[in-house]
Amino acid sequence: MSDDHDLRSDSAVYKTLLESTKAIPWKIDWSTMTFAYIGPQIEPLLGWSQDSWVSADDWASRIHPEDRDYVVNFCISQSQAGVDHEADYRALTKDNGYVWIRDVVHVVRNSKGEAEALIGFMFDISERKKTEEKLLALQKELEALSFKDGLTGIANRRLFDTTLEREWGNAQKTGLPLSVALIDVDFFKQYNDLYGHLQGDQCLTDIAQALKLAVVGPRDLVARYGGEEFVLVLPETDAAGALKVAERCQRLMELKGGIAHEQSPIGPRVTLSIGVGTIIPKAGDRMADFVHAVDENLYAAKRNGRNRIEAQS
Ligand code: GH3
Ligand code: MG
Ligand code: MG
Repeated sequence: MSDDHDLRSDSAVYKTLLESTKAIPWKIDWSTMTFAYIGPQIEPLLGWSQDSWVSADDWASRIHPEDRDYVVNFCISQSQAGVDHEADYRALTKDNGYVWIRDVVHVVRNSKGEAEALIGFMFDISERKKTEEKLLALQKELEALSFKDGLTGIANRRLFDTTLEREWGNAQKTGLPLSVALIDVDFFKQYNDLYGHLQGDQCLTDIAQALKLAVVGPRDLVARYGGEEFVLVLPETDAAGALKVAERCQRLMELKGGIAHEQSPIGPRVTLSIGVGTIIPKAGDRMADFVHAVDENLYAAKRNGRNRIEAQS
């Protein structure tokens, strides 16, 4: 056998190898920016025939418009710098769909070190992307759940804590007042005793929904503080504005006759006691002290007869 024959049979072996992998091999000549080669596997994957891949523009035009500019610019600049690189993008299919591709690119140089060609492999990474997207969606769902109260569906204590911290910082920066209202259901132990714990749960859920109707600001938060206590965070709200919201909470509890509470010593309906506080936090003010002061107001409302609002500072 001649050397020539060996070479030819070698290249046949390489070609068979290249064309039987799942990854799709390709080569672009640097001087003309045209495809010297692309594996036949491209057609079953994307639908575009092997001989339709002529210039680098054919490649660029078959990238999803949202990925195109970034990927093309990145690949051109990396190639010009002579750096091997890889890019993930959505390749368009002939039937108007797309496939997630990871393109791994190697810059081939001649003996003088000048770029001569780009060779690479395209990998179908759709499955991996699908798994990644599912994980991301799951992560978002979990995060949303971790900020939600399981019983009432409104924000939980955790979201209250992070929201108050953020709004405290905002108020410090803007110098605008921040208000907080702590709300406690009156004689709720008696409610449970008379109507049962399950109906007690339903009552808390109904109260949560009523409180949500009382707030209007885009950054206002209604959260379950714990047990039968709720809390409102009212950014950019002064004392008068906060008082109005608290009054609205009490009025909403009377809507359609309110929720019956035949064991309440102060009336036939479920009522709320509310402590309100307003602050423009200065350097050195502590958030915990402010919340404590609001809590003191709530207890004053209890002491002074319940079903009332206290806001003295
Ligand atoms: P006050 O007017 O002084 O606030 O009296 P109260 O009875 O509401 O106060 P207390 O703190 O003695 O009782 C609160 C009750 O709330 C006791 C507890 O069983 C009930 N409670 C707390 N969390 C839940 C809950 O998730 N579901 C139900 N059904 N009841 C709850
Ligand atoms: Mg309580
Ligand atoms: Mg109570």
